[in-house]
Formats: sequence, C-alpha cells, structure tokens
Amino acid sequence: MADGMLEVLDDISGEGNRRFRLGLRDGAAVEAVVYGGDALCISSQVGCAVACPFCASGARGFGRNLELDELVGQVMTVRGLVNGIVRVTVSGIGEPLHNHQRVVAFTEWARTVGLPVSLTTSGGPLARLRPWLELHPHRGLTISVHAGTEAVRAQMVPHGPSLTALFGVLGQTVPGLGRGRRRKVALAYLLMAGINDHEAEIDAFVERVRSLRLKLHLYAFNPVPTNDLEPASEARYQQIAARLRGDGFDVRRSSQARRRANGGCGTLVAARSASSPNALPVLQ
Ligand code: SF4
Repeated sequence: MADGMLEVLDDISGEGNRRFRLGLRDGAAVEAVVYGGDALCISSQVGCAVACPFCASGARGFGRNLELDELVGQVMTVRGLVNGIVRVTVSGIGEPLHNHQRVVAFTEWARTVGLPVSLTTSGGPLARLRPWLELHPHRGLTISVHAGTEAVRAQMVPHGPSLTALFGVLGQTVPGLGRGRRRKVALAYLLMAGINDHEAEIDAFVERVRSLRLKLHLYAFNPVPTNDLEPASEARYQQIAARLRGDGFDVRRSSQARRRANGGCGTLVAARSASSPNALPVLQ
C-alpha cells in the first residue's frame, strides 16, 4: 500500500461501469465501482453483518472494518485509474454506521480534497443515524427500508433496526431538519418478486413514509450468484413507481448504470485474507 494506493487485483469493468477489486494489506479484498463516469462507490467493511438476503456483499458474513487509510486508498487508487470522479458514495460493501468513526473521518478527509460524500445505510445503530440526519455534513443520506411491515423488514434487513424503531427516530428528527438537509435524505425500497412487491406491503410502506415527505429511491434488483431471489417484473416495477408518484412522492428509479450487471445495490463482493481469523470464507 505504497503512497496510500491499494493493489488492483481485478478490473471488472464493462457496460459503462468501471469496477475494481482492491487488495488490502492483510490480503483481504473489497470492491469499488465508478457509476456514470464520475461517481465512485466505495466499501466501508470487509463483508457485512446486516445479512440482507438479496446482497452478495454480506452473503459471506462480516470480516472487519476498513481503516481510514483503506477508505481513502480506494479513492486514491480508483482516481489513478479513472479521470473525472467528482463525488463519492459509501454505499458498497458494508454498513457504514457499523464503521462510524472512520466513515466520519473519511468524509472530513474528502471535504479537504473537494469530494462530496453520500452514504447508504440500513439505519442502525440508530444512535449513530441521528447525527447523520442532523449534524454531519454529507451530500446525500439514503436509508434502506425495503418493507412496509415488520415481518418483511426482518426478512429483507435481518440485522437492521425494526421499522418501528427506525421510523421513531425519523419521526423525531426529519420534521426539524432544514429544507436543504431534508432534501438530501432519501428512503430506499428494493423491489423483490414475491417478497415486498405486493400491494399490501406497498400500502404499509406508504402509510409509514407519507408524513415525512422524503424522496424515495425505488431500486430494481440485480440478480447475484449468492442467492436465487428474483427481481420484480419490469411491468410491476414501473407500476409501483407510477403508483408512488400518484401518491405525491418524489420517486427516483435506478439509473441505467445501477441496472447493469457489474453494478447496483448488493452486487459488490468481499474476500478475506487466507490468514485472517475471521469467519469470512476466502473467495477463489
Ligand atoms: S445491502 Fe448493505 S447493509 Fe445489507 S448486507 Fe448488503 S452491504 Fe450489508
């Protein structure tokens, strides 16, 4: 890791996205991907403990938190390979709030080099979500919800906060946010066939989010080899987007870049080092 750079183990670029597997000093690896030529998505952990069933990043469990120099190193390394990166999102492998202090330090470093940072979180720990809502500077905070009922939330985000707890904090904080800060917060809903795409689940979701007046990100699912789950059909995806817009929500759908095979929510993969004592299996 000379000069803060990470070893580029693999270049999985194609179809518009530039995606790289990056080696860490202990032999573990994470991935980073450039969307649309200018937005770099980096990882915050080796693996993830939240265990969302649709996600390849957490499918092999949790390895370890990334150090600050490894967060910075992803930016330095990919910037050395791809020109024109103007923003960073901590939305790759890992739950950023589980590596809270280093992610805060990373956003401070990024500000010093003129890179705005956004992040995606499953919401917990809630005590760490609150300062991201109210205090920490960021360009965007996307909170993954993926459900309207507790049963489906427990299925989709097994080790994230319950909807009751999550919306309790949102209900206490969002109404007090200034307009500019509120506009940077979004709620995400990843549509999975037969799990959370039926009308009753969407109804329940709408009831929870209606009063918050936050932007909604409706994500299409990119199938990954670590599970056999299926995306909602394109027709259903468009139908739900139209329904939410009809209900008055500002709905953003997945960009084309995030629907490509080498990008999108939950597609990045981690590997641990062969000598690491952690439980994450080695990828071949
Ligand atoms: S979707 Fe995010 S929070 Fe869930 S397992 Fe994957 S990396 Fe972790």
